[in-house]
Amino acid sequence: MMYWADLHTHTSCSDGIMTPTELLYFAKEKGLQGLSITDHDTIEGYSEAIKVAKELGIHLGLGVEFSCDFQGYSLHILGYDFDPSNEEIQQLCQRHYERRAHRNHAILEKLRHHKMPITIEELHGKARGKTIGRPHIAEIMVEKGYVKTVRDAFHLYIGEGEVCYAEGVPFQVTDTIDILHAAKGKAFIAHPQLLSKQLPMSELLRLPFDGIECFYSRLTKKIWIEIAESKKWLMSGGSDFHGSIKPAIELGCNGVTQETFYRIFEHSLT
Ligand code: AMP
Ligand code: ZN
Ligand code: FE
Ligand code: FE
Repeated sequence: MMYWADLHTHTSCSDGIMTPTELLYFAKEKGLQGLSITDHDTIEGYSEAIKVAKELGIHLGLGVEFSCDFQGYSLHILGYDFDPSNEEIQQLCQRHYERRAHRNHAILEKLRHHKMPITIEELHGKARGKTIGRPHIAEIMVEKGYVKTVRDAFHLYIGEGEVCYAEGVPFQVTDTIDILHAAKGKAFIAHPQLLSKQLPMSELLRLPFDGIECFYSRLTKKIWIEIAESKKWLMSGGSDFHGSIKPAIELGCNGVTQETFYRIFEHSLT
């Protein structure tokens, strides 16, 4: 069987549906040999995940997806292979937790003004782990009949720039890269295919990234492979699997080979 590793997945520790244990069992069932769990702004899934990955014989590489700001545009950074006990990383996760608490509050306030009240208790009731964000808010908006679909919730109200959107105090891309490097990790530009067309790309590409997610979900494009090659950056790949909340995205629909897995994860966890 061909070696295949999905390096971009979410669990119930952020806005995915499956617990880390369920995700690993599902990965095994799908025939994946390698996996990285890249929850938004948290690595809390790993204590559970390492144990289960060992039992199942799946290669697990440490990962996280940090939300950042680059010159006013939102950008996600995939952090890989860092030291999870590094204090700066732990502080960054904690600061993101606080940022999200403020920001969720601001979004709920705007929704209340638009006659779509959601209480903070309802939001916490919907959260399945440490990181709470707009997908949880969107789910509640559907349940309460404010919108028909999660997609509508984003497009009409809580998507970037829409009437009930709030940014909160963002974290800078350069700081996030520095912290990942201080923790001996690697910083990758996540899903470049999804970046705003207005974002100053040539400036972004001058930053000291280690790699770029060339093989993203169903959106692989040659241009990102050429950029990675010209910069001698690593090329990562994964599905961005979230489970039944995003049913169109299949686990393992994109990924990397064994050689790439071990180039990215010099300290694979299992
Ligand atoms: P947050 O982390 O709270 O900023 O929420 C961002 C997450 O919401 C992304 O990582 C996606 O998983 C999800 N998301 C963003 N835009 C949309 C959209 N238009 N439809 C559905 N989900 C989205
Ligand atoms: Zn997500
Ligand atoms: Fe993302
Ligand atoms: Fe993601």
